[in-house]
Amino acid sequence: MDEKIKEIKENLLKKKERKFEKLTAEESIQIDAYAKEYMRYLDEGKTEREAAARAMAMAADHGYVEFKEGSPLLPGSKYAVSFGGKMVVLVHMGELPMSEGCNIIASHIDSPRLDLKPNPLYEESNAAYFKTHYYGGIRKYQWMTIPLALHGVVCRKDGETVEVAIGEAEGDPVFCITDLLPHLGREQGSKPLNTAHAGEILTPIAGTIPYAGEGEDRVKLSVMALLNSRYGITEEDFASAELSFVPAVNAKNVGLDASLIGAYGQDDRVCAYASLAALLGQSAAPKHTSVVVLADKEEIGSEGVSGMKSAKFDHLLASLCGNDMGVFHACLDNSLCLSCDVSAAFDPSFAEVYERRNTAYINGGISICKYTGGGGKSGASDASAETLAKLRKAFAENDVTWQLCELGKIDVGGGGTVAKYMAERGIETIDAGTPVLSMHAPFEVTSKFDCYHTYLGCKAILAL
Ligand code: MN
Ligand code: MN
Repeated sequence: MDEKIKEIKENLLKKKERKFEKLTAEESIQIDAYAKEYMRYLDEGKTEREAAARAMAMAADHGYVEFKEGSPLLPGSKYAVSFGGKMVVLVHMGELPMSEGCNIIASHIDSPRLDLKPNPLYEESNAAYFKTHYYGGIRKYQWMTIPLALHGVVCRKDGETVEVAIGEAEGDPVFCITDLLPHLGREQGSKPLNTAHAGEILTPIAGTIPYAGEGEDRVKLSVMALLNSRYGITEEDFASAELSFVPAVNAKNVGLDASLIGAYGQDDRVCAYASLAALLGQSAAPKHTSVVVLADKEEIGSEGVSGMKSAKFDHLLASLCGNDMGVFHACLDNSLCLSCDVSAAFDPSFAEVYERRNTAYINGGISICKYTGGGGKSGASDASAETLAKLRKAFAENDVTWQLCELGKIDVGGGGTVAKYMAERGIETIDAGTPVLSMHAPFEVTSKFDCYHTYLGCKAILAL
């Protein structure tokens, strides 16, 4: 009897494989080596511009060249295209013609952060501060009382663009937003979490030493003088600048066994890096043309020239189709897009917001999300059963550990990815990515096993 049930179970029920418990020594070495390179990528790119520049440099090292109208469209041709230094598209031309479709992996390289306002610098009560406007969905209190670095570019009046990075080099000062002491926080503590900290108080302290002499705002003046000596900028140059405060902490191993990665910006550079590594590791021309997209502006709705809604992507794809509209339309019809973005990993401390049977778990592998959205799948790009079948097959054939997930319990919240903007183009699209704990926090946590299986998943899709 027991044998019979065992056999029926074996045949009918989903297998609960816990592959991460049975890793071979060789697999562990591969996972660790991959994690090390990924952590380096995180440290070298804390803004979309830095992550894009790093991706372009890595692509150049692998023979990718600039695409120009009229560049040869031959199997094995490798092109790297940068949209204003913020969004990157990499193309490895396949053996089949473009009309047969591409395998696309689209992720994003922008992450929540604190952007400087256009008039940022001011002085108040013997100190100078920066006004910021947060970018993306943050829990404001998480960004207070932690070391922050200032990254970005300033396009000076003289036409020069200078790259700014303060708070990263050894010995460099960092910035910090102060918070209320508990002794005086009784009223603040009784407020709902979302309203206890106003956006306007996210003002990192810039300095306190006044410029020698007499007069108003001499602390502000001395901070401006320091910025001028370092970068040659004046206060008016903030008008044409993109400067952001990001956590001044590099990626770290987390846990005694170092099985996890803690770092800023893993949403979604964990998937961006996985797709990059999968593409750059291709030893020969793929069957279908491989396209890897590292998009900007996902965190604020994929808007603008460097977001996934941008017509620049369509223009590039059309150029790759020889500007033949018939080929272009066939290409869209026959392409597959993996919208590679992170999922919310189950957190037992907040079990009430997850639905245990349909959630992603740490060490469960790449998580496939058939639909995102919220409140009755509203705003979701709902992948078809046929697409899921394709993905399952590809993952099974390539030993990719995967799991199925939704984003939390019904009606608890919701979210989206670039998937729907790809689907709107008529491209068959599905969401899958790495589970993340503390998503959007200054220090997000992923598992190395999941990072590696996201990479294996990307490899499997590009090989279809
Ligand atoms: Mn994301
Ligand atoms: Mn996000």
